[in-house]
Amino acid sequence: MNTVYVDNAATTQVSEAAYNAMLPMFRETYGNPSSLHHVGQVVKEILEDARERVAKCIGAEPREIYFTSCGTEADNQAILSAAYNGAQKGKKHIISSKFEHHAVLHTLEKLKKEGFEITLLDVYKEGIVRVEDLKAALRDDTALVTIMMANNEVGTIQPIKELAAVCKEKGVTFHTDAVQAAGHIKVDVNELGVDMLSVSGHKFHGPKGVGFLYCRKGVPLQVFLNGGAQERNRRAGTENMAGIVGLAAALEEACTNLDKNGKYISALRDKIIDGVKDIELATVNGDLERRLPGTVNMCFEGIEGEGLLLLLDQKGICASSGSACTSGSLDPSHVLLAMGVPVESAHGSLRISLSEYNTEEEVEHIIKSIHEVVDYLRSISPVWEKIQKGEVVE
Ligand SMILES: *Cc1c(COP(=O)(O)O)cnc(C)c1O
Repeated sequence: MNTVYVDNAATTQVSEAAYNAMLPMFRETYGNPSSLHHVGQVVKEILEDARERVAKCIGAEPREIYFTSCGTEADNQAILSAAYNGAQKGKKHIISSKFEHHAVLHTLEKLKKEGFEITLLDVYKEGIVRVEDLKAALRDDTALVTIMMANNEVGTIQPIKELAAVCKEKGVTFHTDAVQAAGHIKVDVNELGVDMLSVSGHKFHGPKGVGFLYCRKGVPLQVFLNGGAQERNRRAGTENMAGIVGLAAALEEACTNLDKNGKYISALRDKIIDGVKDIELATVNGDLERRLPGTVNMCFEGIEGEGLLLLLDQKGICASSGSACTSGSLDPSHVLLAMGVPVESAHGSLRISLSEYNTEEEVEHIIKSIHEVVDYLRSISPVWEKIQKGEVVE
């Protein structure tokens, strides 16, 4: 049985280019970029070259890029930094959305315990934050607005440019978690007008354990890892050189092929949506236009997402019921609940996230398998029987 990997929003396979860029960093150019001798200085040059290339991909300046250990760390540093800087000026209000990644939501919970006030904006049925809601929520003591660029479970894209413009007018710091967006749709920090932006390597065929924070020059950044002078004194710790060059190679590759991959992947995605639309009581969650090329999230009434995933896995298909971080728990997704999906339906959700490595043939196998598995699970589902008899109305 061949593996059909369609869980690219959880993580991706490292690309050939990224892999090849990483290998020499282990046994050839293995020096410490902080060393003054030539073995270190060669690596220092490789580090700064990677920084330049990464900066170019998002329209930033190299000195605005701070490499981190992951997207989560970048989110933490951006949010905590803006919050504590705001608090020094008596500003302790933060605005975000209800369907952020836990790297953001759990950081906000920590701040709430420390006395910050948090407003989470609605995302509605479409899975999109509304600019007028942000305008209404902004206050004189708002220190930070953090809204993700693309959602990791449903793939909807937020109006970051418009949201950031509202914040700029009021002088409020704006951060976006662009982990699902970078390498998949165009990300240009000046076009977007954001102050801070988080990226992670492993969501676009780079390695795990490396990410970066873009922080616009002039925006103060607090330090949370204390130690050496790495990353312009903002993030101590010897640089993960293999990770950094792998991330740079993968991001460059993804940005070069953005349009080509986007067209190819969205055609596969639309084929899946089209292929399952004859299934009764099945819905696609979130806005159908403003979304990432590769992510589709569906609900099938009367079945459990876990059963769906296990049976698809038996057919070689690796998908997800939502976020990899929450699957494993039986709690329905906070993202779907925030979008007003009823609890029963949220339990039967399926996320398929494609990459340019997927093929038409795989998509056909997926469509056929979803039909078989949904039919089977419904044939043994007491809930489905009730729905059929009209006993459960939804
Ligand atoms: C994956 C993901 C993260 C976390 O990135 P890591 O590098 O795995 O820590 C944060 N935000 C979003 C939207 C993600 O999809």
